[in-house]
Amino acid sequence: MPTYSAPIKDIQFLLHDYFNLQKYNNIQSFKEATPELIDAILEEAAKISENVFQPLNLPADTQGCRLENGKVITPDGFKDAYQQYLEGGWQGMTGDEKYGGQGLPQTLGLVLNEIMVSANWGFAMYPGLTKGATESIYAWGTDEQKQKYLPKMFSAEWSGTMNLTEPHCGTDLGLLRTKAEPQTDGSYKITGTKIFISAGDHDLTENIIHLVLARITGAPEGVKGISLFIVPRNTINDDGTVGDNNGVSCGSLEEKMGIHSNATCVMNFDAATGYLLGEEHKGMKAMFTMMNEARLGVAIQGLAIAEVAQQNAVIYANDRIQGRALTGPQNKDAKADPIMVHPDVRRMLMTNRAFVEGARAMAVWAGILVDTTRSHSDEKERVKAEELLALLTPVLKSYFTDQGVEAASRALQCFGGHGYIHEWGMEQFLRDSRIAPIYEGTNGVQAMDLIGRKLPANGGSAVRAYFDLIQTFINDNKTNEGLAGYMPHLEKALGRLQASTMWLMQNGMSNPNNAGSAAHYYLNLMALVTLAYFWADMAKKAQEMIASGEGNKEFLNNKIITANFFYSHILPETSSLKVKIEAGSESVMALDAQSF
Ligand SMILES: Cc1cc2nc3c(=O)[nH]c(=O)nc-3n(C[C@H](O)[C@H](O)[C@H](O)COP(=O)(O)OP(=O)(O)OC[C@H]3O[C@@H](n4cnc5c(N)ncnc54)[C@H](O)[C@@H]3O)c2cc1C
Repeated sequence: MPTYSAPIKDIQFLLHDYFNLQKYNNIQSFKEATPELIDAILEEAAKISENVFQPLNLPADTQGCRLENGKVITPDGFKDAYQQYLEGGWQGMTGDEKYGGQGLPQTLGLVLNEIMVSANWGFAMYPGLTKGATESIYAWGTDEQKQKYLPKMFSAEWSGTMNLTEPHCGTDLGLLRTKAEPQTDGSYKITGTKIFISAGDHDLTENIIHLVLARITGAPEGVKGISLFIVPRNTINDDGTVGDNNGVSCGSLEEKMGIHSNATCVMNFDAATGYLLGEEHKGMKAMFTMMNEARLGVAIQGLAIAEVAQQNAVIYANDRIQGRALTGPQNKDAKADPIMVHPDVRRMLMTNRAFVEGARAMAVWAGILVDTTRSHSDEKERVKAEELLALLTPVLKSYFTDQGVEAASRALQCFGGHGYIHEWGMEQFLRDSRIAPIYEGTNGVQAMDLIGRKLPANGGSAVRAYFDLIQTFINDNKTNEGLAGYMPHLEKALGRLQASTMWLMQNGMSNPNNAGSAAHYYLNLMALVTLAYFWADMAKKAQEMIASGEGNKEFLNNKIITANFFYSHILPETSSLKVKIEAGSESVMALDAQSF
């Protein structure tokens, strides 16, 4: 059976030592989040995740969800686990206090999300979708809508979903057909079929609040005619109690590769009563609030699966005895050494480690940017954070989820044939991980979003601010002897990214296929440069703490070793990425479609 232990020490290093959340005293949501409170919350999150959610992960994968008499039944143990989640007050942790939330930082929410997903991805998606739905209602709802839905959703009594996809439209939402007919009382009748709806129906909550994209009768074609609606599964009485079914049903459940414990539903809306959220025909704008939030959540899924797969691979590598170390026997009393002695096994484990710890730093930074956009006292800081966050959200979503799959695969490889066998749990991690590069906008589309929309936005001000951030760090630390192993390499990698950006500007406009074929490589190049910045900066912090006698020396030394591995074995990929970007689209597009 796989195990999981929440990486509290690493999280504490990031929150307390490296980022030092206390210094952000201009951000409202950080004011009450004292280190003591954060540590207490982390301890409780670790307890419920390790003891309640994680033991259900493997059996729930085997059992899956089932549809009985039109109702979805979740795997054994989920109802009880959800009740404990509800009673712990976890759902409303980052919500506005005005609507029953606790007003704690989004940064903390991201960290807790990682822990829950590592423990049980399928389970974590039920509350995860609710979080996305509450973000949209909070951003776009009228005060009456907020009062009606948010307290019940923050308390986890009601859950939420997002309904975009239809059988003939996934990426291209402009094609969607679900109809919304205006009624005299201001509501709409929603009719249509949505597919692949995560947590579309289940037995964990007394009501499910669906957010549904639909086209109002007579609306323009394409994305400009799409509106967003709140469609509760069950009607809500004037006193707030839950009434009858509102014409919303689950037609069937998808049989899928992974995340078996999360219900993926075909949803039918049969003249269901819906309420406009935001403005008519501006549904995509409102849905993007939810999707940006959800994209960060999906990025965290990549990190979380890498963490848990890695933990199990490390335990196995120290335990499994096969062969001898190349430099001579290490375990002389036994007939063989643990596979941890083999450099090839180390290569896989170090690659995973460098990704996980670097990505976690980047994720916490993204969390701080979210909090800055929402409650920093200085408007200039809010705008700057918004731009950087918009630039980097596709990078986090795409790079983290691709690496989540790679890391799960590498961790499985450490188990040899046993990794392929169900009971070890590694093949579940790999199967579960595979959805994240697909949903919330495929990774290919994220890369197009980065280069097509985010780079040129506001005359390129976000990417200029990003370059400035890293260049300033390089300038400030060029003469720091302790960082001599990093700074020249970071500077060269940044130079490659800047040159590739220039190449895109010169060659992507004249031939858009050049931009399309470079997009994936460019996104990965930006991810590696960002990770390199965090690794150098974390190594600097670790060196300073060792010099001043703070912290745990072994932990800090290990940070420096991992930074060295990142710089020597991963960052060099930036060279080949630049070459691939500049190769252009000629050979990519040359073959006739019929010749494939
Ligand atoms: C388990 C699961 C859960 C899901 N949960 C939800 C949910 O809760 N709510 C919801 O609404 N949807 C959900 N989805 C749907 C998911 O978001 C879509 O599958 C995804 O957006 C891709 O759409 P598609 O499957 O139609 O693929 P398509 O859009 O047909 O894409 C096929 C391929 O073409 C590529 N492609 C398409 N257009 C472009 C382009 N312009 N440029 C470059 N490449 C392109 C894509 O990257 C992809 O590789 C879920 C799907 C699954 C499998």
